[in-house]
Amino acid sequence: MNETRRPLAAANWKMYLLRAEARAFCAALRAAPPTPGADAVIFPSHPLLGAVAEALAGSEIEVGGQDLHPEDQGAHTGDVSGAQLADAGCRWVLVGHSERRRDHGEDDALVARKLAAAVRHGLRPILCLGETRDERRAGETFAVLERQLAAALTTAPVDGLGWVVAYEPVWAIGTGDVATPEQAQDAHAFLRARLAELGSPALAASLRLLYGGSVKPDNAAELIAQPDVDGFLVGGASLDAGKFLAIIHACARR
Ligand code: PEP
Repeated sequence: MNETRRPLAAANWKMYLLRAEARAFCAALRAAPPTPGADAVIFPSHPLLGAVAEALAGSEIEVGGQDLHPEDQGAHTGDVSGAQLADAGCRWVLVGHSERRRDHGEDDALVARKLAAAVRHGLRPILCLGETRDERRAGETFAVLERQLAAALTTAPVDGLGWVVAYEPVWAIGTGDVATPEQAQDAHAFLRARLAELGSPALAASLRLLYGGSVKPDNAAELIAQPDVDGFLVGGASLDAGKFLAIIHACARR
């Protein structure tokens, strides 16, 4: 493991939780013993950002938005800009989650523009990418990852900004059908090799690669033991403070 790649546990709450539940979750996290070996970040839905940022103020746990518009401001009803996320206390933003690609038709070009917008506003993007079940069955996994990564690198600066890539096979998200440690490691090793060529060797060595897709407390330890898995993007299990804490602890023990 590269010592600069401190493990990261990221909670994607999707369109779940109300403010009282979010505050109770944050209180449980703050009450738990610190985990100096891992970073944690919470991605609540936009209406919860203020409450979560307030509840976590002064703690080591950071907050991010689940999406942003590629432009800095404008007549875009229902959308949120990078400036607004930063102003609400966000340090991070998810970009290109497969549920956005599916529900909102986001393509690689739009995802690349969103990445650039995140960087413009000082937000650390987590670029999500991954193949569908059909693409895996067709033997296209690496081609899909290559396409998605290369598109992102056309606009995102390739060094120094602390962005993160999350490998999230679509077939594993919310299905309970977690990738095997070998499948995750193979995809991560491929992504790291391509980052070295498309970006730079320094970027590839330092960039954190998260795995996402049905991560639970009982499968986190064997996934994080893989040399190129630097943490997790967690959906369902991140809605339960106890489960998310167990996943943070698995990361911290690597
Ligand atoms: C996700 O939404 O990014 C995710 C990985 O979800 P889940 O953990 O529920 O599979």
